[in-house]
Order: sequence, then C-alpha cells, then structure tokens
Amino acid sequence: MLEKYHDEILSCTGCGFCKKSYYAYKFPQKESDFPKGKIMISYGLLTGELEEDMEAVKAIQKCTLCGRCEEDCPSLIKIADVIKATRNDLQLMLPEHEKIFHNFKEKGNILGEENFFKKGGSIVFFMGCLTNREMKDVVISLFDKLGIDVTIIGGCCGYPIEKIGRKTEDKIKKELEEREIEKLVMACPNGMLALSEFSPLHISQFVLSLGVDFRRNDKNYIYHDSAFLGRYLGIYEEPRQIIKRIGNLLEFDENGKMARQCGGEIEFRMAFPDEAKEIAEYLIKEAKEKNATIVTASPHCYSHLKEYGDVIDILQLIEENIK
Ligand code: SF4
Repeated sequence: MLEKYHDEILSCTGCGFCKKSYYAYKFPQKESDFPKGKIMISYGLLTGELEEDMEAVKAIQKCTLCGRCEEDCPSLIKIADVIKATRNDLQLMLPEHEKIFHNFKEKGNILGEENFFKKGGSIVFFMGCLTNREMKDVVISLFDKLGIDVTIIGGCCGYPIEKIGRKTEDKIKKELEEREIEKLVMACPNGMLALSEFSPLHISQFVLSLGVDFRRNDKNYIYHDSAFLGRYLGIYEEPRQIIKRIGNLLEFDENGKMARQCGGEIEFRMAFPDEAKEIAEYLIKEAKEKNATIVTASPHCYSHLKEYGDVIDILQLIEENIK
C-alpha cells in the first residue's frame, strides 16, 4: 500500500511549511510530531531503513488525518493519504487502538456499547457509535417532531478503524443493501465517508431540504468545521445556513478550508488525550473571547469539545429550535 506513495513521499522537499499550524500548540517537541517528520518515517519504513517499533507507530498514529497541514504544503503532498497508507502497513498497534478494534469486532461498536435499532419507513438514519452515545434521544425526538417514521440502524461504520490502518467487515453496508432506502441520513461525517456509495445526507442537508422553520434567538454561535465534513466532504454551507436562521453566526479566525481540527476524533483522543485537550482548548479560548457557543457538526467533535466549554451539536440545535 505504502509503495504506491513512493513518488509522493519523494516529492516532499522538507521545507517545513506543514509545521506552521502546529506552532499555536505547545505539545510538539520532536520532529516526528510534525507532518514533515511523519513523511520521513514513512520513507524509512518503506525503504527498510527504519525498523517498525512502538516509537515509530506512535509517531504515525499521532495525527488526526484532518488535512489542515496540506493547505500549507507548497508541494501539494497528500500528507494524510501517505500517513494512512503507512498505517495500513503497520504490524504493531497502540494499546488504545487494540481496545477499540476489539470492541468493533466483538460489539460492532468501537465504544463497546449497545447499538440502537428502530424499524420504520424508507428514510433511514444511520446512528454510528458516537451519535449513539451522545445524541440517541435527540435523534428520536427530532424525527418525531418532523413527523417522519424513521428507520434507525445502529453500529460502527468502520471509518475510525480504517483510520488506524485496520480492515473492517462490510456488515453495515450489507445491512443497507438489503433495504429500500429513499434517503440515508447521518450526523457523523465518519459514517458519511465510510458509506459514501449510498449518497448519505448530513442531517443539516436533510433538514434544509425539508424547508422547515426555526425559532430565532439572539445568541452568538460560532461554527466549528469538522475536517471530515468540510475538507473531506466539501460540506461547509448547510450547517451555517441553519445557524443563521436560529441565531447570530460567528466564525473562527481560521474557518472553512483553513479550519483547525478540535482533536475530537475518537481514535486520536483515546491515544493522545493531552494533545487532544490542548487542541480543543485553543478553539474554546477563541469562542469564549467571541462570547459564543460552539456549534459542531460531528459527534466526534461534540463529545470532545463539550468537556472543555460551551458546545452544542447542529443536531441538538435543530431539535431544540425546530418549529
Ligand atoms: S510542507 Fe509539504 S513539502 Fe514541505 S516538508 Fe511539509 S510535506 Fe514536505
């Protein structure tokens, strides 16, 4: 797998521009904490000049794959793809990743929790592990308010497992293939990426397509672009349109394509909690200075950021304010 990226790796000039966005944080200490260092480790593992050990595995896994550094790379290196390919070839696993992989295989849920299912019509909501933990009741209540007899399918989409470099079974895909689906709706960008062949809609897109009305208030909301909803899926506008109809939309200084990661991807923050906390606190500080509640559009971001500040997910915002 990594062999495919041989030329990509060699195109790295070592300029170090990819370090730029890291300077806001105190935690990077070593060259291997930066994308440039990870490219070098990938090269070493590919050529055999470097032996795989836990130190190398830690360096390669210490990345959210958010792709923010690629926006600063003058050589347009696909840094996240190189790191992902390197992970696919790793033999060793971090203990935290062994745990979520075990949960995935045993329970079909990376958190080891019970998945939720509900029979209903041809509008299908895929719950996913993090939405299941954080917002199950909100999903049920929202579809009740919309008057839609929704089918809910729970389980892990497998994307967090793919991100750590392990293969997944297509259990959810098979389950979806067996159904008549008019629309597949999700609140989690991880699931949307894993199940992209079913053309899923993010909950913000689905609700906008219904043309529903919202109650307005005069609160300030600052929108946090999830890297996977934004840079990966290109969905920037729909959550903003909803926020504008409910309250005052504010922006982080770096937003849209240049938005910073919050550290919330579950496989990252389980393995690197201190770094994940510092990344989150950077955003929380700016939101506080702007006197705004952060609005997330991913349960990974929500479940992490809410530990440190005033945060609501777009799913909750919709459910609370729909008329
Ligand atoms: S910015 Fe791009 S070319 Fe420069 S060191 Fe980083 S990955 Fe390599």
